Amino acid sequence: MSVRTTVVWDYAPAPESADHVRLKDRYGLFIDGDFSEPASGRFVPSINPATEEPIAEVAYGGPDDVVAAVQSARAAHPKWAALPGLERAKYLFRIARLIQERARELAVVETLDGGKPLRESRDVDIPLAAAHFFHYAGWADKLRYGVNAREVSPLGVVGQIVPWNFPLLMAAWKLAPALACGNVAILKPAETTPLTALLLAEICQEAELPPGVVTVLTGDGDTGAALVRAPGLNKVAFTGSTAVGRDIQAALAGTNIPLTLELGGKSANIVFEDAALDQAVEGIVNGIFFNQGHVCCAGSRLLIQESVHDEVIAKLWQRMRRLRVGDPLDKNTDVGAINSAEQLARIEALVAAGEEEGASRQTIECELPERGYWFAPTLFTDVSPAHRIAVEEIFGPVVSVLTFRTQAEAIEKANNSRYGLAAGIWTDKGAKAFEVASALQAGVVWQNTYNHFDPTAAFGGYKESGFGREGGPAGLRPYLQIVQ
Ligand code: NAD
Repeated sequence: MSVRTTVVWDYAPAPESADHVRLKDRYGLFIDGDFSEPASGRFVPSINPATEEPIAEVAYGGPDDVVAAVQSARAAHPKWAALPGLERAKYLFRIARLIQERARELAVVETLDGGKPLRESRDVDIPLAAAHFFHYAGWADKLRYGVNAREVSPLGVVGQIVPWNFPLLMAAWKLAPALACGNVAILKPAETTPLTALLLAEICQEAELPPGVVTVLTGDGDTGAALVRAPGLNKVAFTGSTAVGRDIQAALAGTNIPLTLELGGKSANIVFEDAALDQAVEGIVNGIFFNQGHVCCAGSRLLIQESVHDEVIAKLWQRMRRLRVGDPLDKNTDVGAINSAEQLARIEALVAAGEEEGASRQTIECELPERGYWFAPTLFTDVSPAHRIAVEEIFGPVVSVLTFRTQAEAIEKANNSRYGLAAGIWTDKGAKAFEVASALQAGVVWQNTYNHFDPTAAFGGYKESGFGREGGPAGLRPYLQIVQ
């Protein structure tokens, strides 16, 4: 471990106030347009990962609750599907506007519940969630233009399961296109981050969305497993780990229920010797330390051309040592809390494996709060392509560095993964970027930037990163059937 150089001056604390946040002590299930006690009788507290304090109790739906949710959704579907697209669009516009109006509150709750820096929830998660609703509101009366002028109809009741790394944003990615296309949706948020989805349920009430069009069925993996197996669903969409994605695919095998899976990744961020290196270093940092590395498309495999390896590593380490780790509510924080004790244990186990297998570890030295779940930004060099840290998704603030000599070798190494979600290319040669991008097996390729999201752009994976696309016109297709 190398020692952090003295920082001659430091920022004063700049904590965002949480005074304006009005959370209830306990939330029931949002079924049929209202919050109700779960038939399961189970409530579990959602924990702030930065303090380990409970924030609010949340219902865990059981099998009877799943049945009630599907019944309510089925009853709501015919009317919703029969509304002219323009009318559905008005509801989506309303939801988008209400997200904007309540943006400050939503950002603080996202940060309290999930541990991500407020700067990110305020500037990325919440604005992008609103943007998704705006974008698909625009599509609701133009669906035919998104599918080559074919006649289309909605699928019906959609079960949607999301993970904890971008809770509100993933809910928006799922709900906005489904609703725009005339489906009704049952959303299952992740157990560690249910709160912004419950605020979104309140927003649906404020927008006077008809009861049953959106259901928020909080709970854990058992709730999710019951939902995907529930009779009466017409489509399942899942974002989460590859292991659970496999389980869902097996559960739906032999049915004609369409499925989209957005799963894990081990994305390559490739730095060529002709890149603007300082800019690349910023992109590397954003690629892997954004949201503590809890990003499915994180640039977790850094491929550096051998001729510039030492220079890039020196600059990167210099930059990493200035990352501010700590209170997620502080507006100056770069790296917040790890989402849960389980996730921290997973990161620690993989980092230990990296050291055991012989890679060189450098972790920045910084003061970490006494309570909560924390992992300081970490860099592994001398990594071989067979090391676990080069192969498995760590889903934490840990980057593994590999080198290459030629463009062909860069492509081969980048594609040497069972995943294929995203990639980054850093070069000042446009033709090279296009040539490499077209040879990469990755759903998204960024050039001279990383982790840039836009509701108009399709997102999704190859290989074990899943199938189906979300975002843009491509994101409509999974929620429609072609009539003629
Ligand atoms: P996870 O698969 O454990 O959980 C995701 C969701 O599935 C949660 O809501 C969970 O309650 C639910 N779930 C768990 N077991 C289930 C089951 N048997 N049946 C149905 N639902 C079940 O994943 P996670 O740890 O919450 O999230 C991290 C993973 O998600 C990472 O692998 C990451 O790469 C992936 N991810 C992918 C994308 C993408 O767009 N490709 C986006 C975000 C996260």
